[in-house]
Amino acid sequence: MGQPYNLPEVRGKIEFNKSLAKLTWFKVGGSADVIYSPEDSEDLAHFLKNLDPEIAVMTLGVGSNLLVRDGGFRGVVIRLGRKFSKIETDGMILTAGAGTPDIILSQKARDHSITGLEFLRGVPGTIGGALKMNAGAYGSDISEIFVSCAAVDRLGNIHILTADDMDFSYRHSSCPDDFIFTSGTFKGRTGDKQEIAIRMKEIAAAREEAQPLRSRTGGSSFKNPQGKSAWKLIDGAGCRGLKVGGAQISEKHCNFMINTGSATAEDIELLGETVKARVFEDSGISLEWEIKRVGDK
Ligand SMILES: Cc1cc2nc3c(=O)[nH]c(=O)nc-3n(C[C@H](O)[C@H](O)[C@H](O)COP(=O)(O)OP(=O)(O)OC[C@H]3O[C@@H](n4cnc5c(N)ncnc54)[C@H](O)[C@@H]3O)c2cc1C
Repeated sequence: MGQPYNLPEVRGKIEFNKSLAKLTWFKVGGSADVIYSPEDSEDLAHFLKNLDPEIAVMTLGVGSNLLVRDGGFRGVVIRLGRKFSKIETDGMILTAGAGTPDIILSQKARDHSITGLEFLRGVPGTIGGALKMNAGAYGSDISEIFVSCAAVDRLGNIHILTADDMDFSYRHSSCPDDFIFTSGTFKGRTGDKQEIAIRMKEIAAAREEAQPLRSRTGGSSFKNPQGKSAWKLIDGAGCRGLKVGGAQISEKHCNFMINTGSATAEDIELLGETVKARVFEDSGISLEWEIKRVGDK
């Protein structure tokens, strides 16, 4: 397929009609018309300013909380990769590009004896995804270490956002959906490098024990309802191990769905909807998707 749209000239990389399946943890889903990997924030802003406003845009981190549907995405997928993975430190402050893996930022904090970011050792996404999702684990989340972040809107305007702008809540930030985060600034506290390293090893071991980390999964499928565990409700409704086509509820952690090898995105979404219906029937509680579902069916 040739170039489907008239696109602005950029310094970054543009690819056409590329499969998104390889770029997400579930390893399912169709192609994107365009994948654009900007060279830097200015390149991204220039691209968005000059892009036909009718063309849809979405941002992809490493797809660890994303289900791309089988019909793929009609429009431009923005992928911030290694070009957005620089980390700067200044005392207890760390500023990381939005493409930085969360785990790398937690390691950088450890190396500088900064405590408070250990939980990021357990989140396998990028800083961009963590800002969007208010990622968290083991009782901490992004909102607790957040200072500010930079973002570019759909019209190419650059913004610096404060905690008030982000208005974080559980696995959610309230910043407009068209904002693309380009970096985040976080603050930790002085800590002991050895103790931080031990805590991070404990987190890594606990996850290995509890989660299907080597599977094709999207992490927690549903948010925990107030005061309840989604996995307990799913287990209680008899859904552990439940299958739809090639998709299965993990035997190890029943808030995780798994692509056993041959699943389509449709299988995975239908499995999720089936679980939701069974949990509602069993407990009267309506689970809310945590995984973002995007693209055409
Ligand atoms: C095995 C496993 C374990 C997990 N454990 C946890 C956990 O303990 N805690 C937790 O919170 N999450 C967990 N997750 C989910 C996931 O890692 C997080 O939600 C993570 O923050 C998503 O980051 P990502 O870069 O993969 O984003 P993606 O999955 O690629 O995208 C998620 C959302 O963020 C948006 N987004 C991504 N980058 C940007 C950007 N630069 N600007 C604007 N929007 C952006 C996307 O458009 C999409 O809406 C887990 C996932 C897996 C697979």
